[in-house]
Amino acid sequence: MIDVSGKSVLITGGASGIGLAAARCFSAAGAHVAIGDLSGSAAEAAALTLGSSHIGLALDVTDEKSGAAFVAAVEKRYGRIDVLVNCAGIADSFTPTLDQPLEQFRRLIDIHLTGTYAMCRHAARLMLAQGAGAIVNIGSIASWTALPRRNGYTAAKTGTLGLTRALACEWAQGGVRVNAVTPGYIRTPFVETLIAEGRLDEKVLARRCPSGRLGTPEDVAKAILFLASDMAGYITGAALPVDGGWIAYGAPGDASLVD
Ligand code: NAD
Repeated sequence: MIDVSGKSVLITGGASGIGLAAARCFSAAGAHVAIGDLSGSAAEAAALTLGSSHIGLALDVTDEKSGAAFVAAVEKRYGRIDVLVNCAGIADSFTPTLDQPLEQFRRLIDIHLTGTYAMCRHAARLMLAQGAGAIVNIGSIASWTALPRRNGYTAAKTGTLGLTRALACEWAQGGVRVNAVTPGYIRTPFVETLIAEGRLDEKVLARRCPSGRLGTPEDVAKAILFLASDMAGYITGAALPVDGGWIAYGAPGDASLVD
């Protein structure tokens, strides 16, 4: 029932993980997808796997000129921008706070929060002129709860929900909806790296989750597709957890039985 055929969809961080799964999901539902990522060749390669009506371009969301150039290139190719999905992101360092350089905090805020803000502004200039558009931002369980030693990440992801609500209220009458998903632990390269480095323990994570498993990038992509589609036409300023029940759980101890 979800129809996004012919829509132009811009996905930051779309060469990997949740962004790539979203790109596949939108393309399967008929949309034209523009993938932006730090590496232009990785973005191009990802777009090629989707087919010839999709494009991949270099994008650094922390560079305002790069963001503006990306949006302009997508407008030139497709004539409009219907959807923006802000997936660009990096992991935090798990260092004790007093040992963290301030620069680390700034970098996390810069990519996740300021980068999302800048991309929303670039896309909304067009969307508001069109009188229609949908933006989906990516929060985290860190948008709702504390992840100690991951200060920059937690602050950025909490801020992402505030930003989502503020923009949603400002742009609602202009026809632009702004929502967020807040994924739990999702099996992407981002999380696989943290597991491989011993900074996350997969079994502990699965036991803490009421659903007893990590999520898949496709679990999140489907929720993003829904929020971006006309099926969610009266939803704006919302944050939808896609976390297998993680933040709903408040009892002591494990939430599920996992061997
Ligand atoms: P990922 O590492 O697989 O993909 C992130 C992509 O963002 C990469 O392709 C990377 O090159 C790109 N990127 C990084 N900095 C960029 C920049 N400055 N400009 C443009 N692109 C940039 O990670 P993922 O797990 O898919 O994460 C995507 C988003 O989802 C992030 O915001 C992350 O915080 C969030 N998230 C992930 C999880 C999870 O468990 N994986 C959970 C909650 C939220």
